[in-house]
Amino acid sequence: MTSVFITGTPGVGKTTLASRLNGRLIKINDVAVSHGFVMGVDEKKGYKVIDMEKLSAYVGEVCEKSDELMIFEGHLTHLCDGADIVIVLRLEPEELEKRLLKRNYTDSKIRENLEAEAMGICTAESLEKYPDKTHEIDVTGLTVDETVEIAENIIRNGECYPPGEIDFMEWFLK
Ligand code: ADP
Ligand code: MG
Repeated sequence: MTSVFITGTPGVGKTTLASRLNGRLIKINDVAVSHGFVMGVDEKKGYKVIDMEKLSAYVGEVCEKSDELMIFEGHLTHLCDGADIVIVLRLEPEELEKRLLKRNYTDSKIRENLEAEAMGICTAESLEKYPDKTHEIDVTGLTVDETVEIAENIIRNGECYPPGEIDFMEWFLK
């Protein structure tokens, strides 16, 4: 069956979208914790350091065995094995900043995520692993319903949202 990976910088709306899609939802951050794939914590940044080799292999195995539509959600999904479709959510850094300010992130963690979004890191990484399976949606100004509809079109109707159209690099000039 089909395995869909929902990825993107923290705050772009992955969890919100994924919870609205039909299919069996797997949050890979939870998987990393519950299966002991967390190797430690980066004290300086406050990030969990995840054993990507193990997480990737585990996700790939789940995909291979599954006989239902699977929705994997998380900012590391695109680094994992097993995707049939990768959907990268993109959000203008200015909008993203408003959302991240509501989280208890440090200033440097917010800055780091905004830079990653402006540069399109998730898309670049996803294209490297999944050059023909990566889709990119600019969710800036979209309602959750509208985003769900686009994702459903990709998943159910085979519509394509090829990367390359979205460019947030201007944010660096501000
Ligand atoms: P992620 O899982 O990518 O970190 P979330 O799904 O937790 O992102 O969403 C981050 C915040 O943005 C939440 O407060 C959520 O309610 C809000 N949000 C998500 N999608 C939209 C949307 N389409 N329009 C406005 N706000 C949204
Ligand atoms: Mg989330």
